[in-house]
Amino acid sequence: MGTMQAVVSHGPEKYALESVPKPVAGPGEALIQVEAVGICASDLKCYHGAAKFWGDDSRPAWAETEVIPGHEFVGRVVTIDEVAADRWGVAVGDRVTSEQIVPCWNCHFCKRGQYWMCVPHDIYGFKRRTPGAMAEFMVFPADALVHRISADLPAAHAAFVEPLSCALHAVERARITFGDVVVVAGCGPIGLGMVAGAAAKSPSMVIALDSADHKLALAKRCGATHTFNITELDAVAAVRDLTGGLGADVYLEGSGHPSAVIQGLNVLRKLGTFVEYSVFGSDVTVDWTIISDDKELDVLGAHLGPHCWPAAARMLESGRLPMADIVTHELPLADFQKGLDLVGDGTASIKVALIPG
Ligand SMILES: [Zn+2]
Ligand SMILES: [Zn+2]
Repeated sequence: MGTMQAVVSHGPEKYALESVPKPVAGPGEALIQVEAVGICASDLKCYHGAAKFWGDDSRPAWAETEVIPGHEFVGRVVTIDEVAADRWGVAVGDRVTSEQIVPCWNCHFCKRGQYWMCVPHDIYGFKRRTPGAMAEFMVFPADALVHRISADLPAAHAAFVEPLSCALHAVERARITFGDVVVVAGCGPIGLGMVAGAAAKSPSMVIALDSADHKLALAKRCGATHTFNITELDAVAAVRDLTGGLGADVYLEGSGHPSAVIQGLNVLRKLGTFVEYSVFGSDVTVDWTIISDDKELDVLGAHLGPHCWPAAARMLESGRLPMADIVTHELPLADFQKGLDLVGDGTASIKVALIPG
């Protein structure tokens, strides 16, 4: 048996590094030694007690206590039985990751193949069924979706496969074509992934918007053809200037700022497509007439990264992304609080990763 070091959530702002029993893989499961785990903005929102996770008057709590956080990870297979090895095509020693949601495979959506909308919605790090990766070891349950990723990548870079798969799914939702002018709002980890994914579709322009010049410089290295600092100019006017007054075909929202929603509705041309990926801290009020009468827009949501994990792994393995500058911090597990604070501050970091062991 033995014990291991793990971060344990006892509720909002009650996370602690503890010695807990090392997990054991059951039949059809795999025991994984965690090599790296990224800290997501959602981890921070959960830590601070956001209603989406812990409930409020209008919704029940989704997150559970006594859970190890962490859903963006890679690790090595330590033990695996034949059933699991055959199912996933992996062996002891392989570097692997698992999609963040472990579907129930039995609900309305799972039965239709729409597993990323699974009703119980067990995502690693938020539910007792799926303890996360802020630990030395974790178990991949039999219901998990497992992918291999190159061991040649630094572990913290490989762990970016989770946010990148999410960003690529948002890009897929937009159905980008060669002639499109694409605008990406926000150049954090998701926005940079959107820029890279949009650029891979070869549209006519990929325009990145942010308020920080160093993030815009990274967006350029991810494939943006134009970058605009929204604190220095009127982004809507700047995009119109580039497009003969028409505006953008596609707007990918990855910032979570209410003002970015209004900006998107204004920057899009008629018949444009708006894709929303973010989790918001507050309500957004807009004139919906822009969506209907003025422009007849397609407004689409995006959640998780279904069917995009192999593409995300390939993109990382290609070395096309400036990962050494996207992963700004690698910290030991014991510094998880510092990591959360860095993500919360948002100016000193892009992606923060914890390295257990
Ligand atoms: Zn995440
Ligand atoms: Zn389900």
